[in-house]
Amino acid sequence: MKLSGVREKRWLQTIWWHTSLRAVVQWSFLALTLLIGIQFILFARQLEQGAAISVRRPPGVEAFLPISSLMSLRHWLLTGVFNRIHPAGLVLLLISCLVSLLLKRGFCSWVCPFGLLGDYLEKAHRLLFGLRLSLPRFLDYPLRSLKYLVLLFFVRAIFVRMDVYQLERFIESPYNRVADLMMLRFFAPPSSTTVVVLAVLMGLTFLIPFFWCRYLCPYGALLGGLSVLSPFKIRRNTDTCTGCEECSRACPARVAVHRAQTVRSDECHACQRCVDACPIDGTLALSALDGRLSMPSRAYAAAVVLAFLLGTSAARVGGYWHSAISEQEYRLHIAQMQHPAYRHNRGTVPDYDLGELGIEDTNGATSCPRPRQEPRRAED
Ligand code: SF4
Ligand code: SF4
Repeated sequence: MKLSGVREKRWLQTIWWHTSLRAVVQWSFLALTLLIGIQFILFARQLEQGAAISVRRPPGVEAFLPISSLMSLRHWLLTGVFNRIHPAGLVLLLISCLVSLLLKRGFCSWVCPFGLLGDYLEKAHRLLFGLRLSLPRFLDYPLRSLKYLVLLFFVRAIFVRMDVYQLERFIESPYNRVADLMMLRFFAPPSSTTVVVLAVLMGLTFLIPFFWCRYLCPYGALLGGLSVLSPFKIRRNTDTCTGCEECSRACPARVAVHRAQTVRSDECHACQRCVDACPIDGTLALSALDGRLSMPSRAYAAAVVLAFLLGTSAARVGGYWHSAISEQEYRLHIAQMQHPAYRHNRGTVPDYDLGELGIEDTNGATSCPRPRQEPRRAED
């Protein structure tokens, strides 16, 4: 189909607007992530230097503790007790899951900094190669299941094999209490292994766009699995579609949009690049209720941002945002982090005695050792 000059201009403007709108949202979340990172580094430095605390710990840092948050989620579902060690991590996990359930996997393409990095690496890839290289289908399909296997590993370990006692033992453990500081020590300064692993992943994501998101990220697998249940889907009007395939060429998830009437793929992360690329107005849309309720990019961006703003604000007001660990306790942890109780070798929590370490149990008991007892079954 030949486009008129005016229409072509409008189309390009639309692409610019939507692309930049998503970019603005992504960059805003990245800026927020960097601010949180810097604030946490300053907080940790004050602790290590024994200085007065002028920069407080940002609760948002718990977004980087997804496994701890998954354990908190399981514990909450079993007991109704909301984690007080890393509550913000659980809040952010719940918001991300809810967004995926209602609005598809928008977290990946509108919020996650790795999604933004993937976008830019893909741009660089296209500049260098002139087209998008991708793995052949016979490799792509099995590799895509890798991230689900990684997720399955964690789900089995946490949701099947751990009972309430074991979950509480981990949540209250000295290791989990300082998991944020441990993570910081892991990345700053990074070990040579960390640098090599990150470089290999970046290289692979440059050579094969979205390698990390498509094949390995267990968080993406969790959100992708939930997003299949979302009422919102990309829908194509077959009456007006010309079959030009611009949508499929634009899709970073390699979905054959031009062949689907409704995109049901777990890989679709609602970036709406296909909608922006379609030259025929109203042919493609992210919509629910069989196409009767469509969600343009502006509304989608507002919905995702609002979900995070309202969710975190409600958690603050309800007292589910700030950790129960006091600054005094953090100082105590910093002083004794070499103690064997802070180790967490291959997923095993070593025996520990909070009382001996001078730590207060957030369940209410003061410094007293946890009873050594046989693990109880979850249904008990
Ligand atoms: S189908 Fe459309 S919205 Fe989904 S990932 Fe592909 S381009 Fe993005
Ligand atoms: S949906 Fe739009 S971009 Fe995709 S094939 Fe049809 S006309 Fe082309």
